[in-house]
Amino acid sequence: MSNDRGGSAARPSRLRSAARPAERPSRAEAEEAVRTMIRWAGEDPAREGLVDTPARVVRSYEEFFSGYAVDPADVLRRTFEETDGYDEMVVLKDIRFESHCEHHMAPILGKAHVAYLPKHRVVGISKLARLVEAYARRLQIQEKMTAQIANAIQEVLQPLGVAVVIEAAHQCMTTRGVHKPGSTMVTSRMLGAFRDNQSTRREFLAMIGEPGSARLSNV
Ligand SMILES: [Zn+2]
Repeated sequence: MSNDRGGSAARPSRLRSAARPAERPSRAEAEEAVRTMIRWAGEDPAREGLVDTPARVVRSYEEFFSGYAVDPADVLRRTFEETDGYDEMVVLKDIRFESHCEHHMAPILGKAHVAYLPKHRVVGISKLARLVEAYARRLQIQEKMTAQIANAIQEVLQPLGVAVVIEAAHQCMTTRGVHKPGSTMVTSRMLGAFRDNQSTRREFLAMIGEPGSARLSNV
């Protein structure tokens, strides 16, 4: 996250949701915090096998939370307008992501399905995957992430409709707490034509294979 200080900061977007702390702790302070947690767990951070662990954990955090350095609007800004009249649904399904829940900082592992109905503008399909990553690599709750992805596409591309469905397993639920491995949560956000037009929504859900269709929770 060391590249967090310049670049897109000059073009603030209201999509950049998370407030940045005024004073970011130093790397040494972050590593010290990990040493504290190791001691709290009952271990000796000076033990040979653990000496380099704080540095590794901090480097992992740089990757896990790199989404804060990405402006989602920037990801979508390059659009293509010559679509030769293409006005059918664009669907990118099974976008694998790793995120972390903001309640336990435990991994959320899942996949996102993203669709929109273009109005004049389309975006490179890899951008939809990068948009998912920009939001996944933050502290998240699944409901919020689902809505953020849909809202970003709606705001920047202004299509006729957006649909986002996320299916994910929460390790705070599977490895601790109620210990329910195998359970997945399904969330969806439908805007525009996907919300108003039942056949559009049905076409999308059929394309992505009706995930958890019995318990789709709208957010
Ligand atoms: Zn959690």
